[in-house]
Amino acid sequence: MTPGDPILGLTEAFVADSRPGKVNLGVGIYYDESGRIPVLRAVREVEQALAKESLPRGYLPIDGLPAYTQATQKLVFGPDSPLLAAGRVATSQTVGGSGALRVGAELLKKALPNAKVAISSPSWENHRVVFNAAGFEVVDYAYYDAATNGLDFAGMLADLGKLEPGTVVLLHACCHNPTGVDLSVEQWKQVVALVKDRQLLPFIDMAYQGFDKGIDQDAAAVRLFAESGIDSFVVANSYSKSFSLYGERVGALSVVGATREEALRVQSLVKRIIRSIYSSPSTHGGALVAGVLNSGELRALWEQELTEMRERIHSMRAGMVEKLAAHGAPQFGFIQQQAGMFSYSGLSKTQVDRLREEHAIYAIGTGRICVAALNRNNLDTVVTAVAAVIR
Ligand code: PMP
Repeated sequence: MTPGDPILGLTEAFVADSRPGKVNLGVGIYYDESGRIPVLRAVREVEQALAKESLPRGYLPIDGLPAYTQATQKLVFGPDSPLLAAGRVATSQTVGGSGALRVGAELLKKALPNAKVAISSPSWENHRVVFNAAGFEVVDYAYYDAATNGLDFAGMLADLGKLEPGTVVLLHACCHNPTGVDLSVEQWKQVVALVKDRQLLPFIDMAYQGFDKGIDQDAAAVRLFAESGIDSFVVANSYSKSFSLYGERVGALSVVGATREEALRVQSLVKRIIRSIYSSPSTHGGALVAGVLNSGELRALWEQELTEMRERIHSMRAGMVEKLAAHGAPQFGFIQQQAGMFSYSGLSKTQVDRLREEHAIYAIGTGRICVAALNRNNLDTVVTAVAAVIR
């Protein structure tokens, strides 16, 4: 038996808990104000139209639905991207953002068999797992500063500056998981310059585009790398959160090549890798996303719904900070500076244990909480409990 996933184990314990008013902040899912996973109206419209048509389910091409990959490129790189105009981006539909990471890792293992992969300390735990599984040695670079509950930017630059040329650097585009701590645009510019100077290979993971500031703002890192003149970089993106389509497994891998010809060669290699793992992606999720992104009306509706999700997260962060301050705990102001679904709350393992045992509030032992699981009905309960365990 291999050890179970700690986050899924937490959910099992939560489900088995019979105390009323229990709250699960351990999840990695956006819940709406009523505590449910939303079905976006834009998605429902496409789904209903598809159900009426009842189309046959042939295989998709190995690299996915063209209407999906083309729309994805515009969303990730921007509609007027010179890289797209030059045909330098090879994009494939993948089985979620996770699939993009794994296929991208397999590709890089072929291109750079002796490279190491550097991930932030901490990072989404699956980053290490995926790159290890593709045969890479994974090292850490400094990122989170527990003393300030913010970014250790000096440490990050120092660590990246020590990496060997050709090292793959995994970067979170926005809404860093698990900390919620992001780089400013100015800081991104410095990282891009350093990565270029040291000849590192950027692999950008963008799982939360639109969950902090907006579609284009949240892709600032991608856009800066695109402008930098770096020949090659990789982007894995996911629609799990931004379309609330977790189980449909919708993601994409985009690889930027130095030339159109290189992008074509990369695409043929990516297709061979996909063919060897799962042959081709599934039809339904891709059709939903493509249907929304390629309709002016539904795209506008989706952007409105994405804005609602983003603003709800911001208001929960603000509410939590304000209410904690009212409970005599003003030191949590940083929660409002963090971005996306997650926050490193600064709570210790002992405090997290007390939250669960004494208050039926579930969080990860690292102190990571999912602020997207808060709502107006459970916020007071959570804040009162946090105020109690930090005393
Ligand atoms: N990267 C990060 C940073 C994530 O948080 C997640 C989802 N938790 C993913 C990638 C994977 O997304 P998906 O569910 O689409 O595979």
